[in-house]
Amino acid sequence: MSERFEPTSLDKLEKQYDLVVIGSGSAGLTTAIKAAELGLHPVILEKMLTVGGDTKRASSGMNAAETFVQTEQGIQDSVGQFYYETLRGGHGQNDPDLLKYFTEHGARAASGSTKKGSNLTT
Ligand SMILES: Cc1cc2nc3c(=O)[nH]c(=O)nc-3n(C[C@H](O)[C@H](O)[C@H](O)COP(=O)(O)OP(=O)(O)OC[C@H]3O[C@@H](n4cnc5c(N)ncnc54)[C@H](O)[C@@H]3O)c2cc1C
Repeated sequence: MSERFEPTSLDKLEKQYDLVVIGSGSAGLTTAIKAAELGLHPVILEKMLTVGGDTKRASSGMNAAETFVQTEQGIQDSVGQFYYETLRGGHGQNDPDLLKYFTEHGARAASGSTKKGSNLTT
């Protein structure tokens, strides 16, 4: 790679932005979008040369239970089952509080992303 990047001075960043988001995966992008909706001026700092992190590698929709898609398709699922399956997949090493939050909010994240234009069907 021949292009050389020069760091932006912190003074300049401080005047332009009021929130620094680290990482440009789904967590970072969602945070930045929400912050902008709330009237803030976020900047996303990404260490890699491309945007998206692992998020751009996800290929089978979004892990979630009791989603609107499942309701539409008559698929029976439960947040409790999702919790225990994910705990098993993590060999019991998952942080229980984070896992509880993740499994309880997956459906909301799926509908919120879809409303914002994400296509989770592929
Ligand atoms: C191959 C693969 C397939 C998957 N398929 C699915 C799927 O089908 N469905 C599903 O729901 N989930 C899937 N997942 C899991 C899903 O991709 C992740 O749970 C999700 O992308 C995590 O999002 P994130 O924003 O937390 O992290 P990431 O998307 O990984 O984003 C983190 C970003 O932060 C950057 N970063 C880290 N440290 C720094 C730093 N110090 N400074 C600046 N930037 C930094 C990273 O470079 C990265 O861009 C898959 C994961 C993989 C690897």
